[in-house]
Amino acid sequence: MSRLPDYSAPKHHGRRTQTAGPLQRLRMTSQTRRRVAVVGGGVIGLATARSLAERGADVTLFERSHIGAGTSGLSFAWVNSNGKNPQAYHDLNCAGMQEHVQLQVQARSQTQAAWLEACGTLEWARDAEQVARLRRRVDFLKQRHYPVNQLSFAELHRRVPDLQWDGCIDDVWQYPTECLVHPHVLMGWLRSQASSLSCVVRENTGVVALDEAPQRVTLQLATGDQWRGEACVLATGRWIPELTRRLGTPLAMINADEPNKRACGFLATTQPLTAQLDCNLITPELNIRPIGGGRLMLQAPDLDQYAHPAYVPALDGSVGQEFAARLSRLFTYVRPACLQSIQVGQRSRPADGLPAVGYLVPEGRVYAVVTHSGITLAPLLGRLAAEELMSGERHPLLSSFSPARLIGKTQHDFSEVETIHYPAAQ
Ligand SMILES: Cc1cc2nc3c(=O)[nH]c(=O)nc-3n(C[C@H](O)[C@H](O)[C@H](O)COP(=O)(O)OP(=O)(O)OC[C@H]3O[C@@H](n4cnc5c(N)ncnc54)[C@H](O)[C@@H]3O)c2cc1C
Repeated sequence: MSRLPDYSAPKHHGRRTQTAGPLQRLRMTSQTRRRVAVVGGGVIGLATARSLAERGADVTLFERSHIGAGTSGLSFAWVNSNGKNPQAYHDLNCAGMQEHVQLQVQARSQTQAAWLEACGTLEWARDAEQVARLRRRVDFLKQRHYPVNQLSFAELHRRVPDLQWDGCIDDVWQYPTECLVHPHVLMGWLRSQASSLSCVVRENTGVVALDEAPQRVTLQLATGDQWRGEACVLATGRWIPELTRRLGTPLAMINADEPNKRACGFLATTQPLTAQLDCNLITPELNIRPIGGGRLMLQAPDLDQYAHPAYVPALDGSVGQEFAARLSRLFTYVRPACLQSIQVGQRSRPADGLPAVGYLVPEGRVYAVVTHSGITLAPLLGRLAAEELMSGERHPLLSSFSPARLIGKTQHDFSEVETIHYPAAQ
């Protein structure tokens, strides 16, 4: 693993706020361990379960299928805050980047788990319009003190030696503190940490209904059993409306089952290739990252308009051929039939594009953590949610992200999330 970057922490002005009712009730039962359920076994649910267990809660995680069955199992998994707006969301993502590094350092002091590649990102643009847009973003990132350096063509060539050099590359930029995640390695570590802290992980156990009362929350399980405890965290990603509707607090999400490029995107993987790549590349035609063993993962945001969650494109169909052609224009030593899979990823995206983290209602016991960019944010949001659930203190980084703004609304109550074809709109 490459050396992990050194971040300067974003400054968090503002004070922690005390959340009302349920937390005080949780405190009253502090003689016994607080029973908390986490619903959903993706990165967000696992990170939250681990952080809760670390703080002494009696945690049970319910996953209706298997760990990583949702969006976390199929993600580009680039850790960044590159072009994230507004400022509060940028600050949250920067803190998320920093949290990954700290957690990875902690994990490596105890185990071999290495989910974070501190490899940085290289990006360039081609035609005049793209170049101007990239420069505007770079200027904006510099104003935000986000690390970004210009790279010479010689440096680019040294870094990516098998790049096909056609003289058309303009303006190369490097974001040295960005990282790539191997999601299954991260989920495996979070799960084993949570289990070692006595968290019970129940796979193949869906939650079909839930009920909140002043003293407790009750979950109805698909097995016919019930679970009762003092708080419940919904970390069910794009499926969160199923349970929030049951509670009478429907949460506005973008419908990931529609062929909608805001919610769906292609992710292609290659067979093992000899093309050398050890960092994340954002190029005019493709985003490319290494996923291990010589295999690459590809994204082409301009093709996402053809993505349909119900159809898997054929490798030799038009989308597959386009991915392969773009890759062979970029790298030497790429065979035409180099793809191994094309899948359609389905995003977990609140209707205004921003995270929703907090109690669904102020006096309630059900807490939601749902976001896009969840790979970047999982370790941080897991910790901040656990802090709020256990101590009653809400971190200032969360102040813009209360679920209240989404409750009782639908995606049609919000203006469309901008989908610009620069990849940091991840
Ligand atoms: C194409 C694509 C590219 C992306 N690229 C990036 C990127 O570069 N960087 C980044 O940071 N993020 C990226 N993301 C987003 C990121 O992957 C997600 O935000 C993140 O994985 C969401 O994690 P989650 O734990 O909230 O949800 P999920 O991983 O979907 O987990 C939810 C889990 O809940 C379970 N569940 C649902 N309902 C129930 C129930 N009733 N009972 C029990 N279990 C239930 C599901 O089975 C599932 O396992 C990308 C996403 C896509 C689709």
